[in-house]
Amino acid sequence: MKDFEYVAPKTVEETLSLLSQYKEEAKIIAGGQSMLVVMRQGLLAPDYVIDIKGLSVLDYIQYDEREGLKIGALTTHRTIEKSPVIQKHFRLLSEMEETLATIQTRNCGTIGGNLCHGDPAGDPALVLIALNAKLKVQSVSGARVVAMEEFSRDMLEVDLRPEEMLLEIQVPIPKPRTGTAHEKLVVMHGDAGIVGAAVSITLGRKGGICEDARIVISNVAPTPWRAREAEKRLIGKAVNDGLLAEAGQAASEEVNPTSDVHASAQYRKEMVKVFVRRAGRKALEKAKQGTM
Ligand SMILES: Cc1cc2nc3c(=O)[nH]c(=O)nc-3n(C[C@H](O)[C@H](O)[C@H](O)COP(=O)(O)OP(=O)(O)OC[C@H]3O[C@@H](n4cnc5c(N)ncnc54)[C@H](O)[C@@H]3O)c2cc1C
Repeated sequence: MKDFEYVAPKTVEETLSLLSQYKEEAKIIAGGQSMLVVMRQGLLAPDYVIDIKGLSVLDYIQYDEREGLKIGALTTHRTIEKSPVIQKHFRLLSEMEETLATIQTRNCGTIGGNLCHGDPAGDPALVLIALNAKLKVQSVSGARVVAMEEFSRDMLEVDLRPEEMLLEIQVPIPKPRTGTAHEKLVVMHGDAGIVGAAVSITLGRKGGICEDARIVISNVAPTPWRAREAEKRLIGKAVNDGLLAEAGQAASEEVNPTSDVHASAQYRKEMVKVFVRRAGRKALEKAKQGTM
């Protein structure tokens, strides 16, 4: 690993000022769970490593019936998994965290670090896109809010300028009669998914017609894949298992995954069918019961 200078700012303002000063020469480290791996692999070799783990002001979970959920970027996966507020109002997030890595990694790794790492196998991005979440990023020049869906740009690349940092994840209150689910294919509990699917289904007031659907798939493209063709199979219709199978088929046809040591491209496409349908069934059931 290349030598670097380590800095540990005490405030967000100090962090932003350092980022503005060093720009491409600097990189933030939070929990270090991904950062140290990519530095060891030589994929990143910053001159300055800015350690933000001490910024406890960014470690929070807030819920408001109108504003929705706000999660500080430095909140760990384990805190989200165990949060009573999230378990009550956004159970899917807590369930997703339970399947993410091991307890050790969940104790150190932060939600912000996970999203900024931009791994297409990552679980939180998938679920947050299905939940229509937004991200608040900040630089010395000001803040901006970007849709989670727009944040991932390419493999390990996100919409973050060198002088910006992620501050907060904002999740709106879902519409009534919305059900959400996340399913992933793993060899062992805690593995990154070979393929994952997050589905959100909103039913209309009368007759159980699907008003809105969001289907997001991991590890089939350089960024999380929004399966819009599959969504079209559901929207405006009375969703049943046959339609969910059709949506799975459509999703499988619209993705173009690559092969790697974990799975061939063909196997991934087959699994997209299975996991979209499986997550779809759960989401539909929850939407009918009104349980999110
Ligand atoms: C063994 C293992 C298993 C794993 N399994 C899974 C899995 O099943 N599912 C899954 O989704 N993930 C998995 N991961 C990934 C893990 O979730 C991430 O490594 C972790 O969440 C990253 O958070 P961190 O705080 O450690 O980030 P770091 O490693 O410190 O940083 C990651 C990146 O984000 C940037 N960054 C961090 N915080 C900010 C911020 N606030 N603003 C701007 N940039 C920032 C850093 O500069 C760096 O580029 C696994 C990791 C390990 C080691």
